[in-house]
Amino acid sequence: MHLRRLLPLAAMLLLAGCGSGRIAATAEQTTEPTASQTAQPTVQPTIQSTTQSTTESTTESTTQSTTESTTESTTQPTTQPTMGSTTKPTAAVTVTENWMLRLANRTHPVGEYEPPELTLLKNGVQVDSRMYPALQRMFDDMRAQGLKPFVREGYRTYAQQVDIMETRIRSYRSQGYSEQKATALAKDYVAEPGTSEHQLGLAVDINAENGNNWSVYNWLAVHAQEYGFILRYPQDGKEITGYEYEPWHYRYVGTDAAKEIYDAKTTLEEYLGAVGEMKEAS
Ligand SMILES: [Zn+2]
Repeated sequence: MHLRRLLPLAAMLLLAGCGSGRIAATAEQTTEPTASQTAQPTVQPTIQSTTQSTTESTTESTTQSTTESTTESTTQPTTQPTMGSTTKPTAAVTVTENWMLRLANRTHPVGEYEPPELTLLKNGVQVDSRMYPALQRMFDDMRAQGLKPFVREGYRTYAQQVDIMETRIRSYRSQGYSEQKATALAKDYVAEPGTSEHQLGLAVDINAENGNNWSVYNWLAVHAQEYGFILRYPQDGKEITGYEYEPWHYRYVGTDAAKEIYDAKTTLEEYLGAVGEMKEAS
C-alpha cells in the first residue's frame, strides 16, 4: 500500500519520532548469542565495539581480535536463524514471542524494558547485542562502497526519555505556559517515556560522517532489508506508524521479516496486524 519513499526530502526533525513499543512477551531465543558476542567486536569500522554486556566487564579488543579470526565472526551475522527454524507460522502468530518483532510505539509502550545485553559502539552508542552482527555487516558493506555511515543514536534508556520529556516541559514552563499546557505541548514533540522504539535497542538512526546523509539514506532504502533492517517510518506511513517519514531510522527485525515487509511495501504495524490498535489510539 505504501509507496516506497526514497529520496524526497521532507522536514525531518531528528529524534522526533523513533517509536516506542510494548513488551510483547519474553522470548529471548538465546540460541546463539554467546558465540556471536565473542566474535563480533573484531569487525571494526565505526561500529567497532566491546561487548559491554553483563558478562564481560573488560574483555578488550585485544582478546577478541585474536579469538575471532578463526571464529565465525563473518558468518554469524548472516545466520540469525532465530526466527526461521522452528517458528515459522504466520507473522501474526509468531510475532509477540519473537524479540526481533517486538512492537514499540505509542499504543504499545514497553514500560521500563531494558535489552538483555548491549554492545557498545566505538562512538559510545549502544545497541542490543543480538542485532549487532547484522548492523556491523551492513556497515562494512556500505563502507566498502565508499559510504561513511555512523550510528547517530541507538539504545535510549527509559530514564533518558524521562529526562527529554521533563526538559521539554520545563522549557515550555519557562515560556509561561501552565504545567498542563506545557506538558501537552511537550507530548506533541517528544515520545512519552516507554514509547520510543530506541528503548528496544533494535533501532538505530544512521547518518553520514561526511554530512552527505542522503547517500546513506538512499543506500539503506534499497539494501537494509538484506541485513534484516527496515525503514521503520516510511514516507506515507504516519497514519499507521504514528511518525513522520524518518529516512535515517532503521529497525532490526531479522532478514525474513525485513524482506517480507520490504517486498510488501508495508509497515511493522501492518505486518504484525497491530494497525487497528494504533488507529484507535491516535
Ligand atoms: Zn530513531
